[in-house]
Amino acid sequence: MNAKRRAAGDTVVSGSREVSPSFRTIGVDIGGTNIKIASVWNDGRVVTSRQISTDAHDGPESACHRIIEAVRDLAHDEGISSQEMRVVGMDCAGLVDPQREVVIDSPNLRAWEEYPLAARVSEALGVPVHLENDVNAMAYGEWRCGAGRGARHLVCLTLGTGVGGGLILDGRLYRGARGAAAEVGHMTIDFHGARCTCPNVGCLERHLGAAYIAERARARLAQDPRASALRQVSGEELTPETLSRAAAAGDAMAADILEETGELLGHGLVSLINVFNPERVVIGGGVAQAGEALLAPARRVVARHAMSVQRQTAEIVIAALGNDAAVVGAALLALERQDARV
Ligand SMILES: [Zn+2]
Repeated sequence: MNAKRRAAGDTVVSGSREVSPSFRTIGVDIGGTNIKIASVWNDGRVVTSRQISTDAHDGPESACHRIIEAVRDLAHDEGISSQEMRVVGMDCAGLVDPQREVVIDSPNLRAWEEYPLAARVSEALGVPVHLENDVNAMAYGEWRCGAGRGARHLVCLTLGTGVGGGLILDGRLYRGARGAAAEVGHMTIDFHGARCTCPNVGCLERHLGAAYIAERARARLAQDPRASALRQVSGEELTPETLSRAAAAGDAMAADILEETGELLGHGLVSLINVFNPERVVIGGGVAQAGEALLAPARRVVARHAMSVQRQTAEIVIAALGNDAAVVGAALLALERQDARV
């Protein structure tokens, strides 16, 4: 299919899923290191994407100009007319105020807090711009086009440096009263546990964040006398990826550490499944690349500890869209929000 030959959004039915597949929306996924700009079909397929560096230390003004330029370039190169580009969807890490569409708390992008990014980009491009939290965007992307398709109730977790969450409840993204819902990483799984970066103790993130998995691996290596390839790995390289590779190569110690990690995940999932009764739980992020080595023990814990109806309903799966989930979600969510306002 040639994107440039398609008509510019002339068959879109506002406020409905009955839209022409010929409609493209631009998504902008702002990470701490890179910003991804992509044009996305309204069925979620990425037409094309490119990256610019975030250069967060230069502040939001500089990034804002580069985002505007990059969106214009992409629209020009892809032949996306101003008629077709009805809206732009952006996402970034941190707490986003859903009414004002500004970042109000972002540890990785401190200087961006309260900066009117969406308004500036909107003014320059002449189209509405919506800003969303990155994990919400990812959850929405997976729900519409990835591993969450077809579910009406979905819990999404991202396991990386931190543990993030997104909720689709009754067919809608759930943000809570002030856009701060779904902080699943800060759910206590051990109330005697260590202090978290939040005011709480023993949080899921304090157990499943990449640095804490490495910490647990180091402690295990110090206590367990078994031979392991992990003993040759330096402290900084003791990442979830290293553990996964070692476990896949038959290293019993690495497999045990991953199994324990999966069990900890499972205990978090029991609470989420009992509370929300989702049809699907989608697990994404770098740590989730461990796949079944992580999911199998998590499922066993859920089978043992979750309530009957909830555990029978919930299917636990790995995310399907990889690094594109957030940019796809941001674009499609912007379309949905725009349609809702028409
Ligand atoms: Zn916490």
